[in-house]
Amino acid sequence: MKAPKFSYVRAQSVEHAVKLLAEHGDDARILAGGQSLMPALNMRLSRPKLLIDINRLEHLAGAKFDGKNVRIGALTRHADVMLSHMVAKYAPLISMAIPHVGHVAVRNRGTFGGSVALADPAAEMPACLLALGGTIVLQSVRGIREVAAEDYFHGLYDTARQPDELLLEAVIAPEPADMRAAFHELARRHGDFAMAGVAARAKVESGKLTHVRLVYFGSEVKPTLAKTAMAATEGKLWNGATRDAVAAALAHDLDPMDNLMGEPATKLQWQRVLTKRALDQISGEATAA
Ligand SMILES: Cc1cc2nc3c(=O)[nH]c(=O)nc-3n(C[C@H](O)[C@H](O)[C@H](O)COP(=O)(O)OP(=O)(O)OC[C@H]3O[C@@H](n4cnc5c(N)ncnc54)[C@H](O)[C@@H]3O)c2cc1C
Repeated sequence: MKAPKFSYVRAQSVEHAVKLLAEHGDDARILAGGQSLMPALNMRLSRPKLLIDINRLEHLAGAKFDGKNVRIGALTRHADVMLSHMVAKYAPLISMAIPHVGHVAVRNRGTFGGSVALADPAAEMPACLLALGGTIVLQSVRGIREVAAEDYFHGLYDTARQPDELLLEAVIAPEPADMRAAFHELARRHGDFAMAGVAARAKVESGKLTHVRLVYFGSEVKPTLAKTAMAATEGKLWNGATRDAVAAALAHDLDPMDNLMGEPATKLQWQRVLTKRALDQISGEATAA
């Protein structure tokens, strides 16, 4: 199928883009890498009247450390996130996850901001941002506002971003040196969207897990912070009793979707297996260090 008719404007500046968003609201879509938007148009799942191309807004591209935080511009291509030493040093969870995002061609065009704006439930970057406690910066004609990742992801493709807001960047505090990260996902083939996945962070202090963050994606309608499971691990040795407690707690935290990928009970079991892998890795690396 071909896309329905639409008008096209190349934004000259952020101000130009947000002015157009304000004028056209839900009839307009930002065009970033086009890796999700163009297939949606071609399949007529989306029928915007106007596309606002932000690809010439080069200052929205790139990851940098501003002395306090890592800032990943909305237009940073997944491939550039993957190559960024800054991201690897200060937000290693993202570097672990990014090779799982699609294939080379998708990563060459797709953007960090596009992924966070779209909030596909199986996407890796939203889950990492939530696990890292990041902040999303949005601009409209009303001004700039910051939304914590915990308040940003509302539901299936549903976020705190309003139709007239442009996502500018994500801000992430640098990872403390003693924080460990693990990222595991299950997909039919490498690069396919995840059927289940976990982005995990924790410290290991005197053999005990602390500061645990567990975020699940792929099986839920949105990236999900598993607060009951996190509480079940906090201050505990990673042993059989804690594994059982986390496995039980996940049933409270997760409510997997029933779809062609599998039944909810199957997905819950996948998430339990991935959790074990992630926390085995974090505990094992801490013991070996
Ligand atoms: C074959 C294939 C496999 C893929 N596999 C994966 C995968 O495994 N994991 C994964 O996470 N993704 C995957 N993707 C999606 C890919 O990562 C996309 O690049 C990403 O989801 C969207 O980024 P984009 O820059 O292409 O956004 P676009 O497609 O341009 O836009 C997506 C949506 O976000 C909006 N948007 C984009 N940027 C902004 C902004 N700055 N402000 C406000 N709104 C904005 C657009 O209006 C649109 O609604 C895959 C895509 C394909 C085609």
